[in-house]
Amino acid sequence: MNELTELLSELVRVPSVGGTAQEAGIQTMLADWMRDEGLEVDLWELPLAKLTALPAFPGMEVPRDRAYGLVGRLPGTGGGQSLMFNGHVDVVPPGNLSAWADDPFSGRVEGDRVYGRGACDMKGGLVAALLAVRELKRARPRGDVLVACVVGEEDGGVGTYGLLERGWRADACVIPEPTGLAVVPANAGALTFRLRVTGSSTHAARRTGGVSAVEKFLPVFAALRELEADRNRDVDPLMRAWDTPYALEIGTVHAGDWSSSVPGELVAEGRYGVALDETPQQAKAALEAAVAAACAADPWLAEHPVTVEWWGGQFVPARNPNPALTDALVAATGVTPEQWGAPYGSDLRLLAAAGIPTVQYGPGAIELAHAPDEYVPISEVSAASATLARLAATHCA
Ligand SMILES: [Zn+2]
Repeated sequence: MNELTELLSELVRVPSVGGTAQEAGIQTMLADWMRDEGLEVDLWELPLAKLTALPAFPGMEVPRDRAYGLVGRLPGTGGGQSLMFNGHVDVVPPGNLSAWADDPFSGRVEGDRVYGRGACDMKGGLVAALLAVRELKRARPRGDVLVACVVGEEDGGVGTYGLLERGWRADACVIPEPTGLAVVPANAGALTFRLRVTGSSTHAARRTGGVSAVEKFLPVFAALRELEADRNRDVDPLMRAWDTPYALEIGTVHAGDWSSSVPGELVAEGRYGVALDETPQQAKAALEAAVAAACAADPWLAEHPVTVEWWGGQFVPARNPNPALTDALVAATGVTPEQWGAPYGSDLRLLAAAGIPTVQYGPGAIELAHAPDEYVPISEVSAASATLARLAATHCA
């Protein structure tokens, strides 16, 4: 087994699910690897109480008592531009175990594949970055090459937020998230919302004397589907790879409290895609207007309008502001890679907001991320690693 495969399999065997002790533990393991490779290492405990109290804190959906930041630095010889590779070490839980052919944290190697939760999202990309930095030790570019290992990406971005708060910066950044080796210079945003529909409860045997909140939700749901269709009709060229780049979905619906009663209230929660270059305020206004129009068309809802609340994760859309970085990455691949914007948010938005031009490019298919029997092709990890090394060699020269 070659070194790349061995390191990747070893990392996949650490069940670094967000919020667990192993999420903290894998950072010390990676710090040891970096020290052994001669990198300068900054391993620090994230000041969670301080970070979570800051006004721009991006959110955290799983509890953490302890979390670490980690940056390895290959110091430049001086005078060149710096480049950061930013990879998250947290993985999502394996989900239904019976859907897996094997232990989700086996790190099993079969042919060109390494299997396990996190293999694709994104320990494959992380290994590509680590080995690229090691490769650069010989070339010694003038600018610094940094490899940042971050926690909490899957639940808001506490790791990258903490890294920026600690003062780490670079002239450019690549996030080796699974893009199937496509170059991804933009991310759509996403907002979380809650709708409350008021009905009027009575005995179900006399239902016509009440008003079902479920029935009153139906025209609102239809209006949201129409809004989604409108918002996905004429999209930015980067988003045309997807049939519905700005998806709007109702994820939960709770109504009523008794099977023989007309449901007096319905609460629905959903996820709402924000278009590239759209502000969250504009997106919110569009949804609120669609809900208001649906209510105005119904005599009951006109009197008892559906309320909209915005809560939970708020991901702003983001775009790499520096096309030269995108072009340099395209050139470094040595092929003509696909280019598209991702329909979901990532740490790209936090880095771009801090003024760091950022692009995503990494091994593995996004469809496999968060899925059972997740795997990453070893050949793609190796190709990504070579691209990242070439990019650094030119960018930091
Ligand atoms: Zn990821």
